[in-house]
Amino acid sequence: MKFKKIVFFRAVSRLTELPGERFPEIAVAGRSNVGKSSLINRLLKRRAVARVSSTPGRTRSLNFFNIDDRLYLVDLPGYGFAKGPLRERLAWKRLVEGYLSERESLLLVLTIFDIRREPDELDLALIEYLWAAGRPFVVALNKIDKVNRSERARAQKKYLEVFGLSPEDVYLTSCRTGEGIDALRRRIFAKRG
Ligand code: GDP
Repeated sequence: MKFKKIVFFRAVSRLTELPGERFPEIAVAGRSNVGKSSLINRLLKRRAVARVSSTPGRTRSLNFFNIDDRLYLVDLPGYGFAKGPLRERLAWKRLVEGYLSERESLLLVLTIFDIRREPDELDLALIEYLWAAGRPFVVALNKIDKVNRSERARAQKKYLEVFGLSPEDVYLTSCRTGEGIDALRRRIFAKRG
């Protein structure tokens, strides 16, 4: 799978700014520091595409990337700033939930977790929301290079149980070693657009 032209298209910080539904969309969600930018860069085979999303003013927005005039990849703002101001948490919730519930062109949501962490209430809230909204999603358990084989298997089992998923929806990835990236890329981008 080759990507020719990937360009940052728009940062959306309120629902009224959403672009027209021109292409199918793949959204990517994850708690801050889970490796979301690294994974997006890996999946797109670019060094720094997703760095755009961490520039000032864009860390709380939905960041749209145009892939070959075929697809939008939508980098959702990282969550987990539980100690942040309530106002900001509500704004995140409204923007992300509004997008996830209403966007017709949204095909699939990639949710990323750190394999070393147990899912917590914020993670569960996102997954519950996706189930309730009837949105197809896949899970990447990232940073597998940080744990041994038995810890991987244990964590995978835990996520499967807690999120009520089947094994084919859970991918084990490492942005450091590249493990698991091709399989996830195939799942996300195959036959789309
Ligand atoms: P984001 O905040 O979710 O976008 O996370 P970043 O992509 O900026 O990554 C956060 C930190 O985790 C950085 O120091 C990355 O180098 C590191 N990181 C990301 N993915 C992996 C991984 O698979 N393995 C390891 N060991 N570190 C990773």
